[in-house]
Amino acid sequence: MAADLGTMIDAYTASHREEMVAELMEWVRHPSVSRADLRTEGAPYGPDVREMLTFALNRLSSFGFRTEDHGGYCGSAWYGSAEEEIGFYAHLDVVPEGPNWIFKPYEPVVKDGFVIGRGADDNKAAAVLGLYIMRFLKENGIRLNKSFRLMMGCAEETGMDDFKTYLQRGGKVPGFGIVADAGFPVCYAQKGGWNADILVPKGKDILEFRAGNVRNAVPGDARMVLRANADEVIKAFEGAEDITAEDLGGGRVQITAKGQGGHAAFPEGTDNAATKLAESAVSVLSGSAYDIRGLEFIAKTFRNPFGEGMGFRYEDEMSGKLSSNAGVFSVENDRIRVLLDIRYPVSADIHMMTEGFQALLKENGVLLEKLQIEKPFYIDKNDERVRKLQESYQEITGREDEPYAMGGGTYSRVIPGAITFGPGLHHDEKPEFLPKGHGGAHGPDEVLHIESWLRAYKIYLRSIIRLGQ
Ligand SMILES: [Zn+2]
Repeated sequence: MAADLGTMIDAYTASHREEMVAELMEWVRHPSVSRADLRTEGAPYGPDVREMLTFALNRLSSFGFRTEDHGGYCGSAWYGSAEEEIGFYAHLDVVPEGPNWIFKPYEPVVKDGFVIGRGADDNKAAAVLGLYIMRFLKENGIRLNKSFRLMMGCAEETGMDDFKTYLQRGGKVPGFGIVADAGFPVCYAQKGGWNADILVPKGKDILEFRAGNVRNAVPGDARMVLRANADEVIKAFEGAEDITAEDLGGGRVQITAKGQGGHAAFPEGTDNAATKLAESAVSVLSGSAYDIRGLEFIAKTFRNPFGEGMGFRYEDEMSGKLSSNAGVFSVENDRIRVLLDIRYPVSADIHMMTEGFQALLKENGVLLEKLQIEKPFYIDKNDERVRKLQESYQEITGREDEPYAMGGGTYSRVIPGAITFGPGLHHDEKPEFLPKGHGGAHGPDEVLHIESWLRAYKIYLRSIIRLGQ
């Protein structure tokens, strides 16, 4: 890489820093949660993410780039006119803000070198980098022998229906692309996904059970209403950690639990409030006359986030441990609906796993309503394109980290030729002003570390120029 190009990138980044941060904050102001239940013509994921896509495409065309709206599923912007394209993928939808925020999720602020807001990191940071990659190339007159194409999806967090539908309908994607939705360096393997809705017989004394908004986030709060003797139950829960019982009158008691929210694929450090509530209720009320049998199954099967209670303990060197998240709970008639997000290692036997789990459900009278299996992703570490990306990463960070495997599923699992690379740096600084459990991508007070983000920008610019020459 020519030294003058490095200087040019450094100078451009330094002089655009404030502008980039301000741009990102504008993007974070949109509460772009994907809501397929609110779909209308041209807005398959509801009005909020529709409005976000329009905003993003307008921003891109205001800088003179050609854009296209793919029916509200996703959108594209191009720099260059060569037929062969390099893709750069980001998503515009965010997970719902969830509980326990100290800051305001959609009124972003900058504090101690961090931007705070829902989507500041996941994944608007990447979409804005896409815009600035295009601006850099254009404003510096850099010609590549491939076009650069930024593609922005609208339903990544809710199962990637955006690109699945776009591709099913014959939409074209670049032959090779970068998914900017995880960490550096190159991610060469991703666990498979096993998503299911199950219906657990609840037990007649459970009137309500509610936790979580999306499958792929660990619920930080849970609430249950029991038909019970209030004094007796309140006394039983006295001293239980992070659990509160309250008399609602009329023989109903509300019990709430606080846990630690976070991303389903990375259970370390999280604490599922719903399974905690179930476990606590079972231990406190065992031997009582109350019928809460659904909670027994939930506590036993899902309290452990590595699938142990389900009878799975898959782990391999390539992609690590299986993870299991019970993300959303609600009562439907005489059952508790539970939405599961399970990520299995590349080498796991998915057929055996499915059969084993189906047998366990049957034994306990639990219904399996929806099951969606997504295959794992894998690319050879020695692929030439992987090497080019690794080189750019090393130049900027001076680090020799090897390509890595992970449990998080990105667009790589859905879009052919799309390799996950950045934008997070694993030596990103953590904000000292936030308590434990805050600051993560799907948890409360999501942050973006600005310096790391700018380093990611430089890595991407070098990578794109390298791939385009
Ligand atoms: Zn994301």
